[in-house]
Amino acid sequence: MVDRVIPIRIDEGKGLAPAMPATLMAPSSKSLDTRGRPLRDLRISVTDRCNFRCTYCMPKEVFDQNYPYLSQDALLSFEEITRLTTIFTSLGIEKIRLTGGEPLLRKNIETLVSMLAAIRKPDGTPLELTLTTNGSILRKKALQLKQAGLHRITISLDGLSDAIFKRMNDVDFPVGDVLDGITAAQEAGFESIKVNMVVKKGTNDDEIIPMAKHFRHSGVTLRFIEFMDVGSSNGWDMSEVLPSKAVIERINALYPLEPIEANYAGEVAQRWRYRDGAGEVGVISSVTQTFCHECTRARISTDGQLYLCLFASQGYDFKTMLRSGASDLEIANAIMGTWSQRTDHYSEIRGQATAEAARQSQKVEMSYIGG
Ligand code: SAM
Ligand code: SF4
Ligand code: SF4
Repeated sequence: MVDRVIPIRIDEGKGLAPAMPATLMAPSSKSLDTRGRPLRDLRISVTDRCNFRCTYCMPKEVFDQNYPYLSQDALLSFEEITRLTTIFTSLGIEKIRLTGGEPLLRKNIETLVSMLAAIRKPDGTPLELTLTTNGSILRKKALQLKQAGLHRITISLDGLSDAIFKRMNDVDFPVGDVLDGITAAQEAGFESIKVNMVVKKGTNDDEIIPMAKHFRHSGVTLRFIEFMDVGSSNGWDMSEVLPSKAVIERINALYPLEPIEANYAGEVAQRWRYRDGAGEVGVISSVTQTFCHECTRARISTDGQLYLCLFASQGYDFKTMLRSGASDLEIANAIMGTWSQRTDHYSEIRGQATAEAARQSQKVEMSYIGG
C-alpha cells in the first residue's frame, strides 16, 4: 500500500500551490494522457545559464547581470537527475535529450552522461541519449561526451555569415568556432549529427541557401526551425516567422528536393532529401504545421519541475519529492498521475487564438525549461 502522492504545482508568480490530485495507479508504460498520447521523450535542462544571448531565446535586455538565475543548491544534482530518469525509464521513456541553457556549461556534464548511459529500459536496452548545444565549447568536450556514452548530438547554428550570426547570438561569438565544434564532433565519431537553424524572417533568412550549400554532402542534417513564441521575453511576432514551406521552396528552386518518410512516429521534423543524393534537410514547423497530436515529450526544468508542454506556465515540483524521502514508486505514481491528466496542445490553440494573445500569454523561459 502506497501513500497518496500529490506533487506541488508551481504557478508562476503565485508561489507554491497544491496540484490537482495525482491519481494513484500502478505505473504502466501504457499510460496515456487525456488526448491518448504516451510518455516517450524526456528533455532535461541541466542549467538555466548560457554564454550566448540569442535574441529569440535569452535577449540580453532581460537576461542581464540582475537576472535571477538559479543558485547551485536549487539545481538537481547528477544523482537526482539519474534517479528521476531511471524512474521515468520504468514508465516507458525511450529517449533523453540534455539541454538548457547551454548544457556544456554544466560542470562535468560528461559524468552525468556516463551515469545516464548506464540506465537500462525494461527490455534491457539502453536509452537513446542525445544533447543539444550551441557548439561554443564543443571542440573541448566532444570526445569526452562520446566516450561517456552520448549517442547523438545536435548543434545550433543560425548562419554562416559572421555578421549575421553575431547579430543572432548577441555576444559577438564567431561562426568559425561553432563550425570547428561540429568538426570535433565528427572527429570524435558522432554519426547522424544535426544542425538546427532558427529562421527569423528579415534577420537571417538570407542564410538559408548558404547553410544548405555548406552542409550538402557533409553527412550532417540541417534542420530549419520556425521562430517560436517560447517564453515571454523574446518579442515574438508572427511577421518574423518564415513558414517552413517557404524555406523548402527556396532550397528546392536551387537544389531539387523530395519528401521522405519520418524515421519514427512522432518525429518533429519533416524530412526532405536532395534528389542528387547530397543528403537531407528537415523543417520543424511548430508555428505553421502543429504536431501536438503526437507530442510525447515531457520536460524537467533545471530545478526539478516537471513541465508537460514547451509553452506551459506551470510545472510540478518533483525536486521536493526527491528531497523529502519519497520512494521510487511514489514518484512514479506522481509522474503518471500528472501525465494522465495532461491536456496540453498549445500550438494548436495558438493557431486558433490571435497572434497578439499568443504573444502576450505568460510562459516559462525556454532556457529554464529546456529547448
Ligand atoms: N543552448 C543550446 C542550443 O542553443 O542548442 C540548447 C538549448 S536551446 C534553448 C535549444 C534549441 O532551442 C536551440 O536549437 C535553439 O535554437 C532553439 N530555440 C530557442 N529559442 C527558440 C525560439 N524562440 N524559436 C525556435 N527555436 C528556439
Ligand atoms: Fe543559449 Fe541556446 Fe538559448 Fe541561444 S538558444 S541563448 S545558445 S540556450
Ligand atoms: Fe508538445 Fe506543447 Fe509543443 Fe504541442 S505545443 S507539440 S503539446 S510541447
